[in-house]
Amino acid sequence: MCILSNNAIQILEERYLLKSKDGCAIETPQALFKRVAKFVSSNEEKNSFYETQFYKLLSSLKFLPNSPTLMNAGCKNGQLSACFVLPVKDNLESIFTTLKNTVLIHQSGGGTGFNFSKLRPKDDLVTSTNGTSSGPIGFMKIYDAATEQIKQGGKRRGANMGILNVDHPDIIDFIRSKSSKKTLENFNISVGITDAFMNAVIHNLDWQLVNPRTKKVDRTVSAKAIWELIIKEAWLSGDPGLIFLDTINISNPTPRAGTISCTNPCGEVPLLDYESCNLGSINLSKILKFHNDIYIIDWKTLSKTIHLSIRFLDNIISVNHYLIPEIKAITIENRKIGLGVMGWAELLILLEIPYASEDAIQLAKKLMSFIKKESYKASENLSIERGAFTNWKDSLHYSHQKLRNATCNSIAPTGTISVIANTSYSIEPLFALAYNRVGILGGKTQTEINAIFLQKMKAINLWSEEVESEVIKTGSIQHIASISKSIKSIFQTSLDIPWYYHLKHQKAFQNHTDNAVSKTINLPETATIQEVSDIYMTAWNLSLKGITIYRYGSKDHQVLQKCSLN
Ligand code: UDP
Repeated sequence: MCILSNNAIQILEERYLLKSKDGCAIETPQALFKRVAKFVSSNEEKNSFYETQFYKLLSSLKFLPNSPTLMNAGCKNGQLSACFVLPVKDNLESIFTTLKNTVLIHQSGGGTGFNFSKLRPKDDLVTSTNGTSSGPIGFMKIYDAATEQIKQGGKRRGANMGILNVDHPDIIDFIRSKSSKKTLENFNISVGITDAFMNAVIHNLDWQLVNPRTKKVDRTVSAKAIWELIIKEAWLSGDPGLIFLDTINISNPTPRAGTISCTNPCGEVPLLDYESCNLGSINLSKILKFHNDIYIIDWKTLSKTIHLSIRFLDNIISVNHYLIPEIKAITIENRKIGLGVMGWAELLILLEIPYASEDAIQLAKKLMSFIKKESYKASENLSIERGAFTNWKDSLHYSHQKLRNATCNSIAPTGTISVIANTSYSIEPLFALAYNRVGILGGKTQTEINAIFLQKMKAINLWSEEVESEVIKTGSIQHIASISKSIKSIFQTSLDIPWYYHLKHQKAFQNHTDNAVSKTINLPETATIQEVSDIYMTAWNLSLKGITIYRYGSKDHQVLQKCSLN
């Protein structure tokens, strides 16, 4: 069993270890990994063999599944998935049935995505009551309020993705809906963008907003004006992001089962209505080996880790407790899973490759294409052993490969599991070399210096009191005159890295990820509105599935803060 960091122990104690009725932990972290390994191997014929394999996989911190699996596996009616999409149809029955299902999902630690575009616009006719409609944003506020209340009793904050398509008559209010910092705090919002809209922006054309109830044109606006509003709001508050619906649907593996109109809260899994997905991430900082005094990637260990992780995620679909029959039906038909990575920035540091470099981009492509290839091999092996997913004959995979799972890979944000694994988030660069981490449920704030940075600086004899105080003050070494350019480039942090390198990393990983990549393009406070426009436009040109930016300081509450702000 790997030694856990103090942060990991604290998070596990607060939220993951099973507790007695009076709130005391009744299991150790080791027992947690045993509980999860035992439950997730319970469908295996050789279950004690796989229990041991899974225990080793988890306790070595080479791979961790998404939080609901760690929290709920082996518990009565344990719901193990992190990602859901639910339908919202244009009637109160559907709106409030989905709200009820949402609350159940949040209570179990899952996150929900909704596309609200089927709802008639605000002030539109409601025949049954002879009244007028509240519109999508009115109902989103109700969802938001419900999420807020469930949060108080739950183990983690319920997260929502709210999407409105760019041709909905309420799109302007939607784009502005998070301007005021206190509204829709439990929602990430994204505009559902089509290629037709992007072409209208580029050629400065008119754009029609269409009432989804009557299918008639409500009014005509300038595409460019909508684009400029999106950009201004994103610059101001980080919302809205964009979801590129046409790009997503080109790689929808099961088009006959439906069109995809939505993703989970952080964007890494495009899903059909009622579909759910289990995520898990390989800790890249653990797949290196020391050879002739330098670190190299241990491809053999990586391959073994991938095969076992895919089996683990596929097992979850079989042993999971499904909250409602609709979710069970479509999830079992497609068996979508999302194996991704965490610790990418730390791997680059250990290999001494600057994040903002072509070498890093080339390695990202090589690494993720290996992960995809091995994931598909693992899923194919499972299909031979257990059968292909039900919709396989109707899927895009049919002519290529027999698979157990309609999708295999996603790059999740790993917001908590990377803390448990004590590595850097997902594929993000280090946010800062020292930072204050605000407690996830609003608990204590802690100051941390990145351990790999510290280890490396000590190894090359560059750690001094001067460096330490500068790092604690600014989170960076970029202004220390005595440190060479090449060392500085290895330790560039999120805000030092030009935005196009953030995008290039997203693109490199997206190229070899069948689901999507959750990535925040972190920008310094000084970033301009034009830069945000360039980023969003480049994201579409690169055929990314979605894009989110965050300009430092533009939200009241942010999870990571540079020390200097406190
Ligand atoms: N998620 C959620 N609430 C949260 C964080 C995450 O519902 O507070 C869901 C959401 O669907 C998100 C997914 O979990 O897209 C994966 O997030 P992350 O990788 O950060 O989760 P972790 O497993 O690290 O907790």
